[in-house]
Amino acid sequence: MSELPALPQLHPGVDQLYDLEKIGIGAYSPIDGFMDSATLASVLDTGRLPEGLPWSLPILLPLTQPDDRTVAERLRAGDEVALVGPAGELRGVLEFRERVVLNPKRIAESAFGTIDPSHPNVGEILRWGELGVAGSVRSVAPRPSTRGPPELTPSQSRELFRTRGWSSVAAYQCRNPPHTAHEYLQRVTLEREDVDGLFIHPVVGRLKVGDYRPEVIMRAYEALVASYCAHDRVVLSPLTISMRYAGPKAALFLAIVRKNYGCSLYIVGRDQAGVGKFYDPYASHRIFDAFDIGITPLRYEEAFFCRSCRSTATSKTCPHPSSDRIDTSQTRIREALRSGGEIPPELLRPEVAAILREPDVILKEGDAGR
Ligand SMILES: [Zn+2]
Repeated sequence: MSELPALPQLHPGVDQLYDLEKIGIGAYSPIDGFMDSATLASVLDTGRLPEGLPWSLPILLPLTQPDDRTVAERLRAGDEVALVGPAGELRGVLEFRERVVLNPKRIAESAFGTIDPSHPNVGEILRWGELGVAGSVRSVAPRPSTRGPPELTPSQSRELFRTRGWSSVAAYQCRNPPHTAHEYLQRVTLEREDVDGLFIHPVVGRLKVGDYRPEVIMRAYEALVASYCAHDRVVLSPLTISMRYAGPKAALFLAIVRKNYGCSLYIVGRDQAGVGKFYDPYASHRIFDAFDIGITPLRYEEAFFCRSCRSTATSKTCPHPSSDRIDTSQTRIREALRSGGEIPPELLRPEVAAILREPDVILKEGDAGR
């Protein structure tokens, strides 16, 4: 579908193109398009779709270009609209339902719990403007992933799990290269009797300035899986969506998405999908008590390496004072990598460290539109 049909055109942003693709392959089921006013209000007010199913974050198509707003003003319900990518290519077709008046402050406050523009998602939402469009979409075939291993669709991952004879799969959400503390949670999960396999599913769509580059994250995971994972029990695949740093609401959203990929358990670490100090680190655990989404949350406390235990542990297994722990924060490891300092193998596998020591692995200002 390279030729554009003779339809009015809209030009979604990068994040919305990712969403379009995910709606098209069923990753956001039961969502079949960009939300209308009633759905948006229901999600913001209750954390549920109008039909009652839990759904924590709005999926919207804001119109940020003046020409798009002019096009949208002329649309009538039922009109088809071409959704066009940055190179002028057709990415999907929207069946227009209605214009949606967006209140960026209200969306930010309700979905992200803050209107502080220093929050990476909130800063963007506040620049959206007040007009969006709603309607069901169909997307063209997803583009091949440039992020390492193939990006599976939900039907492909379900089929793969079936082929492997897995009836119970735990999903591991991440957005950073793997430390041994992350690996520990994966291993503990694989030891469970009720887990047949592990689906490592890093979010590597558009990340924020200062994050590792998506392809670096995937290479680091490939190195970990190749050298340290029981290959017949782990599947690794990228998930290209923009990372929503909404703390608990994002944790719930990310779990719903993984259920669509065929997972029945979901690993929730400390401060999952948080950023800075915006969220209580264990709010992402508690939200699973308030909403039953048909997936079992596996809630873990923060893992660390303890010198006295001589192993990775959490406060559930280690009795020693925090002074016995090696500081495993991203910041500390990042600093050591930058300065060429030693990284103990207790914190980072050498194969992973070698990748992270390469030049230009961090997203800079100007890369952010990727
Ligand atoms: Zn200890």
